[in-house]
Amino acid sequence: MEIQGQVTLKHGRAKKIRNQYPWVQRGELHRKENVEDGVLTRVLDAKQDFLAIGTYNGKSRFPVRILTLKDEPITEEFFVRRFRESIPARESLKRITDSWRVVFSEADRLPGLIIDQFNGHFVVQVRSLAMENLKSLWLPALIAVFQPKSIYEKSEMAGRKEEGLDSRVEHLHGSTPDVVEMSEHGMNLLVPIAEGLKTGFYLDQRNTRHDFAQFVRPGETVLDTFCYTGGFSLAATRAGAKCTGVDILPIALDTARENARRNNLEIPFIEANAFEYLEAGVDGLGPFDHIILDPPAIAKTSEKRDALKWAIWKLVYHALPNLKPGGMLMVCNCSYQLTWQSTIEACRIAASDKGTTLNLERLTFQDIDHPAPIHFPESLYLKCLWLRKGR
Ligand code: SAH
Repeated sequence: MEIQGQVTLKHGRAKKIRNQYPWVQRGELHRKENVEDGVLTRVLDAKQDFLAIGTYNGKSRFPVRILTLKDEPITEEFFVRRFRESIPARESLKRITDSWRVVFSEADRLPGLIIDQFNGHFVVQVRSLAMENLKSLWLPALIAVFQPKSIYEKSEMAGRKEEGLDSRVEHLHGSTPDVVEMSEHGMNLLVPIAEGLKTGFYLDQRNTRHDFAQFVRPGETVLDTFCYTGGFSLAATRAGAKCTGVDILPIALDTARENARRNNLEIPFIEANAFEYLEAGVDGLGPFDHIILDPPAIAKTSEKRDALKWAIWKLVYHALPNLKPGGMLMVCNCSYQLTWQSTIEACRIAASDKGTTLNLERLTFQDIDHPAPIHFPESLYLKCLWLRKGR
């Protein structure tokens, strides 16, 4: 694709870009010349020297997203190189699973492009107008580098509206089954690609699921709220725990039950609103040895941060009476907008309001196929606090 026009940054705004931060905010732009929404453009510093090539969309909160700090042509070959560069970070996962995130947007220096693969079937989410326009370059590159069994586009995220994009769901290459079989730590799992949430499965919790399975002792009871297709429950039950899963989404629960069946595990999966279920006393099934709280992001923007903090307070407040003293409360937060420190604060207030204490034993993050370059703090989004209830 041709590079169109140029944007000039205000004085002092080039340094963070040179240091690998990929976003330019509206207020940081000094001038733009001959650029339209959805194109590639040259980015210049205040002295008018070349800084980067980025994508442009005036409608976006971050009108410029950096693709490269080199003055290089953006071609199919460029995407081939980027895809190849993403491979080493995932290499060690092959021993554990056949499925991982192949490309994590800015964290893999491909802003606006998310690609997960499940046992050779690729699921793509396009989050920016420019990446949409660049499809004729990255799609053949993706096929050349990975030889996927199929590629499915599932771009239904709320963020697309802001970019002026509608949702788009279609087969890009071959034909992707609605449900794909994958394996993780020897477990056989169904991924509801077409009907499930996001790309179909939460690959980012892989390490924490595994750590939790190592942590539970045989016979201990676990309440897994926001269980989706059963990830935590399946792993912990195989380790000998007695789990109960709760989620609000019927298709997720159907898949969870089928996942339990095909791995010869017995797990009750209950359809309920987790907030109400905890508040109403967990059907009298408690108190549990351990409780997992893994709610959805809620806060995608900073304005919603307080809503998420309040939601976490509420979950912890109502979970605590259903947790045995000495038990583990795992509180996961997948929103960058609410830091782990603020998450702790919400938990601290909830524990105090209930007259009990919590000790932070561990803090785990997203797994390695969701890279977290420290130059781009927004990439470290998933935090799981392992909090031990006082006696
Ligand atoms: N723990 C899961 C991922 C959870 S994703 C795993 O490891 O795979 C968040 C889940 O919360 C989704 O499955 C969604 O259906 C569910 N959810 C959203 N709101 C809910 C609510 N109020 N009560 C119960 N589940 C809810």
